[in-house]
Amino acid sequence: MSTDFACPSCGNEWSMEPDDDGLFNGYGCPPCPVCGGEGAYADDYADYECPYCHYEWRVYGNGGLVFGCWPNCPKCGTSANEA
Ligand SMILES: [Zn+2]
Ligand SMILES: [Zn+2]
Repeated sequence: MSTDFACPSCGNEWSMEPDDDGLFNGYGCPPCPVCGGEGAYADDYADYECPYCHYEWRVYGNGGLVFGCWPNCPKCGTSANEA
């Protein structure tokens, strides 16, 4: 059964079948085949909206948390609201 992954860096999405050891080419979460960035599980993300500038963005990995907290807006640095 294949697993879906997404790349936070370039937005690529892909699926892979795990190897016999349950890993993907030796990774629990494989790197992006397009840009080589760190991959994330496709269903492991959260969407945020900035209450100040209304920028919307998506954070992959750790349920969308960054160091266990909601992230700050990448545009203006305001603490996010969950979208
Ligand atoms: Zn990528
Ligand atoms: Zn903002």
